[in-house]
Amino acid sequence: MSTCMPTFRHGVHPPECKETASAEVIRIPWPDKVIVLLSQHTGAPAKAIVKKRQDVARGEMIAEAGGFVSVPMHAPIAGQVKSVDLALNPRGELSPAIEIIRDPDQDPESVRGSFQDIDSLEGDALVEAVQNTGAVGLGGAAFPTHVKMKVPAGRKIEAVVVNGCECEPYLTTDYRVMMEQANQIIAGIQIAMKATKAPKAIIAIENNKPAAVDAMMAAVPEGAPITVCSLATKYPQGAEKMLSTALLGREVPSGGLPSDVGMACFNVATLAQLGELLPSGRGLIERVITVAGGGVERPGNYMVPLGTPLRHIMEFVGIRPDARKIINGGPMMGTSVASLDVPLTKGTSGLLVLRDDEIRTGRLNVYPCIRCARCVDACPVFLNPSDMGLLARNSRHEEKAESYHLYDCIECGCCSYVCPSNIPLVQYFRIGKAMLRERSAAK
Ligand code: SF4
Ligand code: SF4
Repeated sequence: MSTCMPTFRHGVHPPECKETASAEVIRIPWPDKVIVLLSQHTGAPAKAIVKKRQDVARGEMIAEAGGFVSVPMHAPIAGQVKSVDLALNPRGELSPAIEIIRDPDQDPESVRGSFQDIDSLEGDALVEAVQNTGAVGLGGAAFPTHVKMKVPAGRKIEAVVVNGCECEPYLTTDYRVMMEQANQIIAGIQIAMKATKAPKAIIAIENNKPAAVDAMMAAVPEGAPITVCSLATKYPQGAEKMLSTALLGREVPSGGLPSDVGMACFNVATLAQLGELLPSGRGLIERVITVAGGGVERPGNYMVPLGTPLRHIMEFVGIRPDARKIINGGPMMGTSVASLDVPLTKGTSGLLVLRDDEIRTGRLNVYPCIRCARCVDACPVFLNPSDMGLLARNSRHEEKAESYHLYDCIECGCCSYVCPSNIPLVQYFRIGKAMLRERSAAK
């Protein structure tokens, strides 16, 4: 069934710009090489288990998990390892990576994997099997999926929440996955329910996607404890904490986890991949991304091998001469692309190629805070971005963290979006968190 549920308080309504919603997913031409970063998820980097000049099959594990909060990497194409070395990551830093040169004589579709009987997997064995797929949150967070399935001792999961909100403007990846892979999503939901022992699942979709609501409702098996909920369209409705408030009426406590309120939350595309990978004993080697924005000639939704250099994707979709900026992710939470030589990662949900008129040119000057409180009214987790911004300018990061709960900031960008003074608040908070992490690592 589908119901209209209450939403969370605060948030913003940016223009949706979802022109690629009707674009079916198509595969881009195979790249000549891929660069598989060993750290493209939250947690410890994977450890390479292949050497230079080693031949690898598509789907073969090439790096093992570096701990429990870590996932392995699999070869996205068949070919030969050119190097195990440092490569540029999307943040513009050098990071360990495996470069593979494609073998043009091999069938590019052929993939390694063998049937796995999911029914026989229980508890830790099921969680380990999920880890072996290399699955991480494909909504952008790239948090290892198996970690969410390992319920902390003493906790009980009351509901698996399936996040199909996709509230970032421009992105239509999750929408297309719901339209085209509804059955795989249901298979993934059943795995998540089994692993977490959740008695029910709720598929949450914003009410600007009625066709996706219909597609998912049609895919739910008769009598299954899975409901589809149509939520109010508001940014950031797809954030875990907002979903918990909207669907369960419970707020994740400061510094807490969704499991504190009985929820395990997974992105729809993650579950679609899992529903396909786990039974076939395969690893995550590709993903769907949206390429959009006025600066791209062929916007759409594309299936792309992980590790594909962004330059290859851009050559295929075509960049218009008036393109000004490329963003990795959506406009609210995405980051500028440092170089077209960086590879696609598991967390890349979209690439936006924006023209001058799509960027807030002419409003780029930063003015002093006028204490209008618009940012306070927009913040969905009830922080005080205005005061935090003033502290950030004076590098008082510890004070921000202790007295203003900096770590509760979900980096949604609502505050920056509404600020009439163009203060880059969310960037301040990201920098503040990074500096505090560095300081604590140096101690
Ligand atoms: S302070 Fe953080 S959570 Fe609040 S609106 Fe700004 S970015 Fe979002
Ligand atoms: S929205 Fe901008 S100008 Fe207004 S209070 Fe917040 S930081 Fe200050």
